[in-house]
Amino acid sequence: MQITQEFDFFVIGGGSGGLAAAKQAAIYGARVGLADFVKPSPQGTKWGLGGTCVNVGCIPKKLMHFAALAGELRKDQVEAGWIHTNLQGKHDWIKMTENVQNHIKKLNFQYKNQLNKKEVKYYNKLAELEKSNIVKLIDKEGGIEYVKSKFILIAVGGRPTYPENIPEIEKKVITSDDLFWLPNSPGKTLIVGASYVALECGGFLNGLGYDTSIMVRSILLRGFDQQIASKIEDYMLESGVKFIKEAIPINIELNENNKKLVTWTQKGVQHSEIFDTVLVATGRKSDTNKLNLEKIGIKINKNGKIICTIDDRTSIPNIYAIGDCVEGRPELTPTAIKCGQLLANRLFGGQKKMMCYQFVPTTIYTPLEYGCIGYSEEEAINKFTQNEIIIYHSIFKPLEWNLLDSHYAQACMIKLIIMKQTRRIIGLHYLGPNAGEIVQGYAIAIKLGATKEQFDATIGIHPTCSEEILTLSAIKGIDNPQKEGC
Ligand code: FAD
Ligand code: NDP
Repeated sequence: MQITQEFDFFVIGGGSGGLAAAKQAAIYGARVGLADFVKPSPQGTKWGLGGTCVNVGCIPKKLMHFAALAGELRKDQVEAGWIHTNLQGKHDWIKMTENVQNHIKKLNFQYKNQLNKKEVKYYNKLAELEKSNIVKLIDKEGGIEYVKSKFILIAVGGRPTYPENIPEIEKKVITSDDLFWLPNSPGKTLIVGASYVALECGGFLNGLGYDTSIMVRSILLRGFDQQIASKIEDYMLESGVKFIKEAIPINIELNENNKKLVTWTQKGVQHSEIFDTVLVATGRKSDTNKLNLEKIGIKINKNGKIICTIDDRTSIPNIYAIGDCVEGRPELTPTAIKCGQLLANRLFGGQKKMMCYQFVPTTIYTPLEYGCIGYSEEEAINKFTQNEIIIYHSIFKPLEWNLLDSHYAQACMIKLIIMKQTRRIIGLHYLGPNAGEIVQGYAIAIKLGATKEQFDATIGIHPTCSEEILTLSAIKGIDNPQKEGC
């Protein structure tokens, strides 16, 4: 075996975590290499450098969410007095995806440039571990080379999973790996799944004007505040999304027009309907099966996720892993990025700081956005008992909505969960416009250990939705959450 190059740090996977770690290590003068290779989806979709977030995740998702909200604004424009708004105008899928894809391609190019500038050697090749310090690189023609590295980082992310009970399902459905790159509009769509991906995609497809049904096996947004999850469902129902609850697909047949005849069971009864597209959003699995982990001796769990110590070390001391492919880590871009940077700081910058996963904020870009930090009501009651916590709540209407006929008045909600003794805030939940933008700032305060009194003492900015978080007085179980006046 001939070694073509030697590195201090070799990164497998050029997504959020891998790119961040590689660029940070290069700042310290380490000799860094990075391999990124996209295995096409079963439908044949492929994309460029940058990983899930950039190509088939956060970025196209948020742009399509914006496109849907922009459509909704047309109704608002009428209420706000604009005369020439064409409410009948249909959405142009091809125009939107062209613009979204152009932006993604620019980002792909920028990532390559950044690696180049930082002198990180980029390989568009599939990597496999040959030995604990040797990586085998395979190009798309099957050409092989071997590189050696003192430290290796695995940051291969994850890929969508498919329900196992339907024969050849991969050929009949799409996943989020395909949706953002569909050359033609999806048309009447069934989405299977009821978490982040399903609800976000269902929300924007409905907003763009496509007939959208979401098939829910059990509950919406497992692990999230269930009162808020049910308000998200109400808002989406009101906007036209159809929910097929307590149902599982049992068969999908392709007919001659490439339409999908889906059969499902719901509470013991069988139903069938024809859809143009079926989008499966039933979770993701780590993309580790081709890496040769077991041969090298790297421990994985039954879902293929890599088991790591708190300092991101695998069971082989010089091999590290970060991001979506690691057991027990949040599957979010900012955590993968921060984790990669901190790892590079420790390996090459003489620093000691570890990643902290406490109070990681997140937002779900449903038509009405939901941002949260810390414990949900259910988790808090489970962990502490009802007597140890106080929950403040408020149902409010954004001021702007008073100008508009078209919004659901009871839709927005805030919940603040605090410890009774210390008054420390341990959970914040905000359902309303611009949740990501609003919750981000509060995340700093909560991470720093803010108390309810410190929130009360903070002066709000009027009139905003954000100030509602600072003026909560209604206690759940005692007071009505309904907000009156300003
Ligand atoms: P990835 O970004 O997945 O990168 C892994 C890279 O490794 C990929 O390019 C892959 O092709 C490559 N690779 C795999 N195997 C090999 C190999 N053997 N050799 C070479 N290369 C290989 N997070 C948020 O924070 N906000 C959001 O709004 C958000 N929206 C999302 C929407 C969707 C639809 C999805 C699916 C995810 C979303 N996420 C979001 C999650 C976020 O995208 C991921 O948490 C993040 O991308 C994980 O980064 P990573 O570095 O672990 O892996
Ligand atoms: P999740 O694992 O969060 O949810 C999977 C969903 O699919 C659940 O509703 C589950 O139902 C359902 N499901 C699983 N198997 C089946 C089946 N066989 N038949 C029917 N339904 C099934 O996966 P997602 O793909 O939604 O998200 C993956 C991760 O990506 C998230 O955890 C998140 O971290 C990240 N992400 C982040 C986003 C953001 O930050 N805004 C956006 C999108 C993704 P049940 O509850 O019954 O198990």
